[in-house]
Amino acid sequence: MAVEHHAINLAQGFPDFNCDDELLELVSYFQKQGFNQYAPMQGVPSLCKAISEKINKIYAKHYDFETEITITSGATQALYTAITSVVKQGDEVILFEPAYDSYVPDVLSNGGKPVFIPLNQSDYSYDWDLVREKISKKTKAVIINSPHNPTGSLITKEDIRELEIITEGSDILIISDEVYEHIIFDDKKHFSLAGSNQLAERTFVISSFGKTYHTTGWKMGYCAAPENLTKEFRKMHQFIVFSSNTPIQYAYAEFMEQKEKYLTLGKFYQHKRDVFLEAIKDSQFKFQKCSGTYFQLLDYSLISDETDVKFAEYLTKKVGVAVIPLSPFYESMKSQSLIRLCFAKSDEVLREAASRLKEVIK
Ligand code: PMP
Repeated sequence: MAVEHHAINLAQGFPDFNCDDELLELVSYFQKQGFNQYAPMQGVPSLCKAISEKINKIYAKHYDFETEITITSGATQALYTAITSVVKQGDEVILFEPAYDSYVPDVLSNGGKPVFIPLNQSDYSYDWDLVREKISKKTKAVIINSPHNPTGSLITKEDIRELEIITEGSDILIISDEVYEHIIFDDKKHFSLAGSNQLAERTFVISSFGKTYHTTGWKMGYCAAPENLTKEFRKMHQFIVFSSNTPIQYAYAEFMEQKEKYLTLGKFYQHKRDVFLEAIKDSQFKFQKCSGTYFQLLDYSLISDETDVKFAEYLTKKVGVAVIPLSPFYESMKSQSLIRLCFAKSDEVLREAASRLKEVIK
């Protein structure tokens, strides 16, 4: 619809700027050097090593690069593979809503049963009492996503402690989607599940290079998990995709040596968030600043009583700004007057979109 109506596309989550030239040169270098055939099934060793070192440095957790890190064709594939390797017919999987769209089909296609728990509506924090209520003997796994798409909220140290207490002594697995791990604002901290000794033993930590290096179209990600879980993961990985893009793996391995590239990513996106929010602060949209990801929610309840789907359609067709309604991130929630915008765009595009949105009044 954005294309059809020539709208500024703040709907889908991808940058409108290119990745680093150096990264492009590295890919081209490795292609020209002949690194164009199948990579090892688990990934190129230098990349697995670079990831293992990064996790150790930032989250103080050691993963063996040969037996506990697997390179995947995007986080989407890692999520599907992790879920497929552990969820069987009748298993329950706890999901927090709003939820990223691939979790439910991943669970259902394995015969699992999604058990939905809404995040608190005021600030999208976790309701651990509700989790206690919903956990049962059939609970196979809990899916966590922080920084959270679509709300931009973060898991806290206290949340991780709660999850440790609730699942202590159980075999409940955690699938932790951390694709926005480096996009975090206002001096806040990303708490990886890798950083919990107790949970890491039962967790698949999944991340994506696409978000970190402005390369969503390359579809590269990884899964870090203890050896027993990685063994199960690889049994599926081998026949879902076998292995992932070779020259890109070599290029990332070398590029990851420049740690400041990912360590300064939060600052880069915080600037974009602030450019956008400053430009719409006098509009009739209400918002709470997101704490991470490149998504911002806007509340349009002062402007319209329309459903979020209708309102998003109106913004795309009549205002020229394509956005995403929040209700599709829920299984059962009615409209809440909320839309999601992606601010991984040039400052000019963000200012132009904001100036169009400012004109939208009751
Ligand atoms: N998880 C979340 C929360 C995401 O937002 C995305 C990308 N939209 C993914 C997973 C998938 O990442 P990838 O593009 O690496 O498959």
